[in-house]
Amino acid sequence: MLTAIVGINWGDEGKGKMVDLFSKDNDIVIRYQGGNNAGHTVINDKGKFILNLLPSGIFRETTVNVMGCGMVIDIEHLTNEMNKLGERGISITPDNLKISDKAVICMPYHKLLDCLEEDRLGDAKFGSTRRGIAPVYSDKYMKKAIRMGDLLYPDILKTKLKSIIEWKNLTVRDGYKSEALDAGEMYDWLMKYGEHLIPHITDTTVYLNKMNSEGKNIMFEAQLGALRDIDFGIYPYTSSSSTIAAYAPIGAGVPNLKLDKVLGIMKAYSTCVGEGPFTCEMFGEDADKLREAGGEYGAATGRPRRVGGFDVVASKYGVSVQGATSLALTKLDVLSGYDKIPVCVSYDIDGEIVHDFPTGVRLDKAKPVYEYVDGWNCDISPCRKKEELPENALKYIDYIEKKVGCPIEYVAVGPERDAYIKMY
Ligand code: GDP
Repeated sequence: MLTAIVGINWGDEGKGKMVDLFSKDNDIVIRYQGGNNAGHTVINDKGKFILNLLPSGIFRETTVNVMGCGMVIDIEHLTNEMNKLGERGISITPDNLKISDKAVICMPYHKLLDCLEEDRLGDAKFGSTRRGIAPVYSDKYMKKAIRMGDLLYPDILKTKLKSIIEWKNLTVRDGYKSEALDAGEMYDWLMKYGEHLIPHITDTTVYLNKMNSEGKNIMFEAQLGALRDIDFGIYPYTSSSSTIAAYAPIGAGVPNLKLDKVLGIMKAYSTCVGEGPFTCEMFGEDADKLREAGGEYGAATGRPRRVGGFDVVASKYGVSVQGATSLALTKLDVLSGYDKIPVCVSYDIDGEIVHDFPTGVRLDKAKPVYEYVDGWNCDISPCRKKEELPENALKYIDYIEKKVGCPIEYVAVGPERDAYIKMY
């Protein structure tokens, strides 16, 4: 069984919790795209953890975790993340963590370039997390990237790096007038943080095909959400990778495999970190109330998230591009304090009512059309069965389900591992 767990919205939907939960039914958990530019929060019997790079299956002793070829990996960050988990008793070995030989290394100069460009843009900045993600994906497609497999051949890597740094200095030193990069320093950095990862480096194509033929259950864990996808998201305020389920087998290293199930993680309201169009955005006291109730501060950066009511237009689009076969509606407990729950049901673009998610300038012009649904005004966080939910909560779930046109299989009512309800 091959399952992808993906974000329907702008990210931060609570994927980490659901992946951690479902990792018990899976032999292998794979991260297939992105880098350390987002965080997955996992709360389980071992404590509270924020993962930026490691797959969320890392907490179960028998689960094998794979970092796929679609990822970009800052090996210094990965080393720190591994060490922090190690200090808290989570054992990471070449048996439970495999890293694709084709995954690309995010170098210190990628972070530097990210910062130099955001600073140059000033007020017009993209709201990058400054973790080097756009520059490293650019290098991948320029065929100037260093891949994890290069660490296996240090002498060849040294020569390759020299040529790359010469080229990079045309931008860093000559373009941005920043201090020149030094190939020797970069090589030392690669050895310092890369050598201990060598036993983890694997041809994940061979490995995963073998595991699949043995009938293992495999889960693909996405980072961010549909609206941050490089092609289908709110370009250019997107991430630099494909966050879509259809990319999961490619980014894992097994483009020949087909997914059996796509579980879309969708939040009961909307949040968005950084710049870009966010039509359903609420401001002032309404926004503060929702932000506080949901603890909406970025897991990777601590930035306050922009918030709004559930956005039917964007979520229906997210469900469609993800090809979701069912949904988990998360953080429903956060809406418990409302008499009337705001839902953005359509967009108004220059007086025209629009139900299909627009792109480009039309999206920039869109204004939200809000409807209000009756709230339930009581704490639902202890509920574990559908029958325990108040009638209005069930009505809200039903309303959302009909609006987005996909079955809601799970409802999450708290951050803890067991705080969820199976709806059917
Ligand atoms: P991810 O990037 O999709 O994994 O999401 P984040 O970890 O950035 O954000 C989800 C946040 O919501 C984390 O702090 C989770 O612990 C928390 N969370 C997840 N599901 C629920 C839920 O159903 N209710 C509440 N109150 N919090 C939740």
